[in-house]
Amino acid sequence: MDRRNFLGAMGIAAAGAAVLPALGSCSGNTSSGVLSDRDIKESYQADLLVVGGGPAGVCAAVAAARKGIKVLLADNGNCLGGMGTKGLVGPFMTCYDASGENQIIRGLFNEIVERLIAEGGAIHPSKIRHTTEFTAWITEGHDHVTPFDPEILKKVYDRICAEAGVKVLFHANFVQPIMKGRNIRGAVLLTPSGLEAARAKMVIDATGDGTVAFRAGAPCVFGDPESGRVQPASLFFRINNVDTDRLIADVVPHLPEFRRVNGVSYRCLHWRVAEAEAAGEWDLARKSVNIWRSVEKDQWVINCTRIHGVDATNCENLSAAEVEGRRQVEELMHFFRKYVPGCENATLMGTGSTMGIRESRHVHGDFVLPVEDLINGVIPDDNILLSANSIDVHGAMGGPAGGLYMPIQKDMYGVPYRCLLPANVESLLLAGRCISADSAAAGAIRVMPPAMAIGQAAGTAAALCIMNGIAPGALDYSDLRASLLEQNVYLG
Ligand SMILES: Cc1cc2nc3c(=O)[nH]c(=O)nc-3n(C[C@H](O)[C@H](O)[C@H](O)COP(=O)(O)OP(=O)(O)OC[C@H]3O[C@@H](n4cnc5c(N)ncnc54)[C@H](O)[C@@H]3O)c2cc1C
Repeated sequence: MDRRNFLGAMGIAAAGAAVLPALGSCSGNTSSGVLSDRDIKESYQADLLVVGGGPAGVCAAVAAARKGIKVLLADNGNCLGGMGTKGLVGPFMTCYDASGENQIIRGLFNEIVERLIAEGGAIHPSKIRHTTEFTAWITEGHDHVTPFDPEILKKVYDRICAEAGVKVLFHANFVQPIMKGRNIRGAVLLTPSGLEAARAKMVIDATGDGTVAFRAGAPCVFGDPESGRVQPASLFFRINNVDTDRLIADVVPHLPEFRRVNGVSYRCLHWRVAEAEAAGEWDLARKSVNIWRSVEKDQWVINCTRIHGVDATNCENLSAAEVEGRRQVEELMHFFRKYVPGCENATLMGTGSTMGIRESRHVHGDFVLPVEDLINGVIPDDNILLSANSIDVHGAMGGPAGGLYMPIQKDMYGVPYRCLLPANVESLLLAGRCISADSAAAGAIRVMPPAMAIGQAAGTAAALCIMNGIAPGALDYSDLRASLLEQNVYLG
């Protein structure tokens, strides 16, 4: 969908958002003649409703519940973790500064990593260096990533939420917000029990796509408005039964040839891709393969399928992408078994149960984080986290081009609390991929460690607001900062 059509669709849907402004305010059937308020059960009442149980949503819910408020977390899948579990995306990108000297994302992220390690489900980032099999042999921006096992991560998230007292609803699809004027007061969820109202004093949108904010009437843009593009989508998959020593022996002699030409990466296994291409057995929009060694030596995570122009907010478009993703996985499995030493007997462990969406809507607030602030290492006055993840916009140049890589020029940058506040809607905070940032800035802070840190800040802010009876825009930053520091968040 091009930008004009998307914005047109937004207008229509935004008008539709007003259909159910508040339960009880309309009587009888809706204009469809099918559903009425009577079809919606009054099921839940909480202080805070978090919609979306990805890395941002989990950390938001846990941070808020640990402050003592009643938190409901609703996710439309069957496990917590979002892209990191359902999407099989990994490893956790860097949590260190650009020098590789200091771990700057700590707090709940580090706690989750330590819990994973205790269960044999991760290797601590301090032990992982760039240009190794754990980083797909990528050098720039990939120091100290964290390999993890997605199945163990699911359990860790379950436990950390249960211990904090978060009530988790799976199979709970956000349908629309419950609005009182400009204030959001909960949401209607579609669950196996039917349509259910979950009322709350405040809501956090951690859906990745900004669906709650969009439906509540916040301004949104789709992808990069200038190019009219979103980053390509990728269906992740995992393989095992790999002879890792032989695979490494094939890669290492080629490291000096790794390069990027006009946005196209010629990195891992580009020599094997060239062989397959010459034999007419490669039609993917990539010239190399990003493969990441997992915690278990014979297991690898593959980030290589690439589907351009996917609109994650369009059901038909997304459905077609899922099918294309699986087709590409089949082609890649053939490639691994036929062309890659050590992978002759590789087995497909599984594909993500959801397409990996790098970019869709960006919700806008009064302040939109510009990429220049990240490049220049700006640490804002209302800083909520520090990160050094590079600005890596896949497919920025369209077609098969790998992406636009912009190194930051300082050791780290910050993210302001203001980015969590959507325009036009009160009592709503943003967390994770959808926060108020331009497309290129979002290309840096969308990865999981910053998403978790943003979630922790959003949950903490929501709890402080609820406990003090104030709106998110009225929160005193020094209170938020003090609370984050108490939670082992590093703010410099
Ligand atoms: C292809 C790809 C590769 C990536 N590679 C890496 C990587 O190597 N390392 C890294 O750290 N990060 C990586 N990322 C980025 C990272 O995985 C995501 O950006 C990050 O997970 C965003 O966190 P989030 O919590 O905002 O959203 P998500 O992880 O997307 O979680 C959102 C959750 O909300 C749920 N949800 C959505 N809509 C609704 C609804 N209507 N009702 C109820 N629930 C809903 C979703 O099902 C999901 O569980 C990658 C992402 C992609 C797509």
